[in-house]
Amino acid sequence: MKILLNDNYKNLKKNYLFSEIGARVRAYSEAHPDANIVRLGIGDVTLPLTKSVTVAMAKAVAEMADKATFRGYSPEYGYDFLIRAIANHYKRYGVTLACDEIFVSDGAKSDVGNITELFGDNPVLIPDPVYPVYLDSNIMAGRRVSFLRAGEENGFLPTPEGLSGEGYIIYICSPNNPTGAVYDRAGLSEWVNFATASGSLIIFDNAYEAYINGDYPHSIYEIEGARGCAIEICSFSKTAGFTGTRCSWTVVPRELSSGGVSLCEMWGRRQATKFNGVPYVVQRGAEAALSDEGFRECRELVGYYMENAALISGVMRDKGIYFTGGTSSPYIWMKCPDGCPSWTFFDKLLSEAEVVGTPGAGFGACGEGYFRLTSFGSREATEEAVRRLYKFL
Ligand code: PLP
Repeated sequence: MKILLNDNYKNLKKNYLFSEIGARVRAYSEAHPDANIVRLGIGDVTLPLTKSVTVAMAKAVAEMADKATFRGYSPEYGYDFLIRAIANHYKRYGVTLACDEIFVSDGAKSDVGNITELFGDNPVLIPDPVYPVYLDSNIMAGRRVSFLRAGEENGFLPTPEGLSGEGYIIYICSPNNPTGAVYDRAGLSEWVNFATASGSLIIFDNAYEAYINGDYPHSIYEIEGARGCAIEICSFSKTAGFTGTRCSWTVVPRELSSGGVSLCEMWGRRQATKFNGVPYVVQRGAEAALSDEGFRECRELVGYYMENAALISGVMRDKGIYFTGGTSSPYIWMKCPDGCPSWTFFDKLLSEAEVVGTPGAGFGACGEGYFRLTSFGSREATEEAVRRLYKFL
């Protein structure tokens, strides 16, 4: 072929983290066909959709089977009923949003990646460690990325202290994947103030909002000034078990503009051009998840995972191992014992305890020496992993 390719792809690391984990687990299973592996690796949920959601979806399926109520393409930004339900959900946290600032989508991952299309060659600030999609999507776009170092010294919550320059795209993930660290109001305010003063934009990834426990902001718009400097991306995946069902939303406040161009209009244009909406049935399910009863059920679902998190955290506490997360996050971020590198720890844990976790190095250079365990397994699997961890550590 003679077509020119996007050379930026050459700058990506060869293997996506979870493909590498999958390959190592497959190799181990092939060599040990009787292995009884417990997976606390990939951040996927295991509990089924809640009753409110499935009842609403079943009703929507019946509507699709009837000529009188059948629906074709959905509105490109989402059905009004879901957008209104999302706006009402924000009222739970004292945040008021206009319906035309909310864009329904098929996943936070898509939006986190696609939003990069709106920007030119701005410098990008990405926490390290963090969800790898921020880095890879900006590498694909050929942007200059700098890292915000997170470690035990700052409780895995980097601050803007010492930063100069302007016009940054800043990623914040709180509660954080993988560290479980969560910004309080003062911490988020620092970022909002920095972004405002430096003409920067915050991309606030709020995928784990439902796991917040305690007096932490559930939305960046709880912070004064955030409407002028932040886009918020949320998801039904971890809140309502929608990882396979696919539904999310992104908030782009009207105040956001640069050089007189509205980001809300740009995102609307982008979505209308390249995205054809989330299925009606799924949007009805998502609407139900945000109703009072649906929300209560989601809290139960989250509560189950958080009990798992408490079991895993208990091992770390009893063994005197440093860790973060597990209280406002489904992730437990532990320090590998004896300075063990994280992929070595992965291999040891797999071969000696048959437990799979995620090596911290896969989330950035500062993740080296740490390891992520998730609480998304079943209670039985988590209890089994906990028994093995007590022996192994
Ligand atoms: N953002 C973060 C921080 C995540 O950890 C994940 C999934 O693990 C996503 C976004 C993707 O969410 P979704 O399933 O909505 O694409």
